[in-house]
Amino acid sequence: MHDRAEPDRNAHDILRVVKETWGFDTLRPMQERAIRAALAERDSLVVMPTGGGKSLCYQVPPLLNDRPTVVVSPLISLMKDQADALKQVGYPAAALHSGLTPTQRQRVYQDIRENRLRLLLISPERLLSSGGGGIALLRQMNITTIAIDEAHCISQWGHDFRPEYRRLRELREEILPGAGVVLHAFTATATPQVQRDIIEQLALNNPEVLVGRFDRPNLVYRILPQVHREQQVCEAIERHANEATIVYCISRRDTESLASTLASRGYKAAAYHAGMDSHDRHRIQEAFANESLDVVVATVAFGMGIDRSNVRCVVHAAMPKTIEHYQQETGRAGRDGLSAECVMLYSAADAIRWESLIARSAENAPDPVAVIDAQTRLLQQMKKLCMTQTCRHKQLSEYFGQEYTQPNCGACDVCLQEVEGMEDASVNAQKILSCVARVGQAFGVGHVVDVLQGAKTQRIEQLGHNSLSTYGLMSDTGKKPLTAMVYQLIDMGYLDRTQDDRPTLKLNAESWRVMRGELKVHMFQPKKKLRRRAGTEEVTMEGVDEGLFEALRVWRKGLAAERGVPPYVVFHDKTLRVIAREKPTHIEQLRAIPGIGERRLTELGNAVLEVVRNA
Ligand code: ADP
Ligand code: ZN
Repeated sequence: MHDRAEPDRNAHDILRVVKETWGFDTLRPMQERAIRAALAERDSLVVMPTGGGKSLCYQVPPLLNDRPTVVVSPLISLMKDQADALKQVGYPAAALHSGLTPTQRQRVYQDIRENRLRLLLISPERLLSSGGGGIALLRQMNITTIAIDEAHCISQWGHDFRPEYRRLRELREEILPGAGVVLHAFTATATPQVQRDIIEQLALNNPEVLVGRFDRPNLVYRILPQVHREQQVCEAIERHANEATIVYCISRRDTESLASTLASRGYKAAAYHAGMDSHDRHRIQEAFANESLDVVVATVAFGMGIDRSNVRCVVHAAMPKTIEHYQQETGRAGRDGLSAECVMLYSAADAIRWESLIARSAENAPDPVAVIDAQTRLLQQMKKLCMTQTCRHKQLSEYFGQEYTQPNCGACDVCLQEVEGMEDASVNAQKILSCVARVGQAFGVGHVVDVLQGAKTQRIEQLGHNSLSTYGLMSDTGKKPLTAMVYQLIDMGYLDRTQDDRPTLKLNAESWRVMRGELKVHMFQPKKKLRRRAGTEEVTMEGVDEGLFEALRVWRKGLAAERGVPPYVVFHDKTLRVIAREKPTHIEQLRAIPGIGERRLTELGNAVLEVVRNA
């Protein structure tokens, strides 16, 4: 039955299924080509940024041809969410993972035996393990199409290499010989090197290679000098009050102290890191997913399990280690295509911290010098991104190898002209540098700042530094902004900081030129009050009845709790926005709204109409 190629489907058939099931009126260009490749039983590699719509590419074909598909995915929670979301739209799918109870697992096996599934999501370990019977499952389901999600995990050049992915090619070569297996690889990682590696490692056969635009126009990027960290974080959260924000910190301790500061100021915030026990971690993931928690303050450990599509803000309270990390973490904002803000608070102190973390982590590596070299290079790129006043969308696109030609993106701090030059930067620099000279180039940032502020510390008194001419010279500048200035000077090379156990500020040739007035210094400071800005959105808030939108959110949250799924799985925010704008009064109007398929129309249509009527 599977040895013949399927007849070419016309666009009409594809769109009908998409409309019926998901309620979408159009396909994105890449999606249509990926779906056509699958229907033509041709291998493919699809590279699309997070939120680009990869899942539809492998979910649609099994509804049109006779080939159920196995999806290999390394992330259990994403798998689980996807299976839940598919159930909501009446799509026969299941996920096999370690989180299932024995009863749930038996039910999936039974569905497989009785040929009831079109899609099975499974982890690579389970699929390839001899005990797990993964291969037997494939035979039972008559599987000949395999979609591999997060395919960059197969490449050593990627940032998330997983050795078990290497064995996936065995599926075609050894385990299912002669079955005419078709492989589709999906990833959000765009570097050409990783793409080539995926094709080679999976031995893709004349694949259709589809590489999407890497830029995320709905994200507003802000990379700002860190002046007063807590305050800047609070302001970012405020710009998205009652919505979801993720705040990333470097260390576990940072997450805990920042989370408790935020909680004490009345935000629904909690810390999350790998040092917490799995029960607590799970509780926080759930609370965030079901919208009872707004803010998660996390280390990089948070995210692998998070698919809340309506995250409206991602804050980096410190500079991340690499642009790859930055891209991945900011990628968790605005997955629903609606506008979201990504704000990074950057300080040279972060770079210094990373340098010592890199050195420490390399200690046990077989070739420490090579490790430090490679990681330092990535860190330099990250620093450059922070320091360069060029469009952020452009810089990111180009880093990942794509041209960006738009002259003004309208969605980054640079294009929005939100960073100001500091007026008396050169004078401030001279004051700071002279103070470093006066204390004999023998002290660190903290002490120099204290002296400039005119602080009354015991140390200052003991050393007699209160009689220096620079004592209290900058008492009008806040302590945090002043500290930020010192780090900016270090960053720009006007001041050195030793890299030993007791880091000390030292003057260099540039410092003297600044002090003699031969060099002008430019320092940056963020505008006083940043406004909420919108990126390019698929559906804007224009004309949306905000009261009704909130009422719909409340209704959705209740329904989701009843069904034991996250709210975004019931309906996307985008769909709620359109409802709150169109205010439909009968079912036919509701049918026309994107994101409402037939199943949900029947099940929930009247309830939605009632919310609209009562609002
Ligand atoms: P990815 O896996 O690439 O990160 P998803 O498959 O999760 O992306 O899709 C991202 C979002 O885009 C989801 O909210 C999904 O419902 C939406 N989406 C996907 N395809 C379409 C489409 N053709 N029309 C409208 N929305 C779409
Ligand atoms: Zn820009």
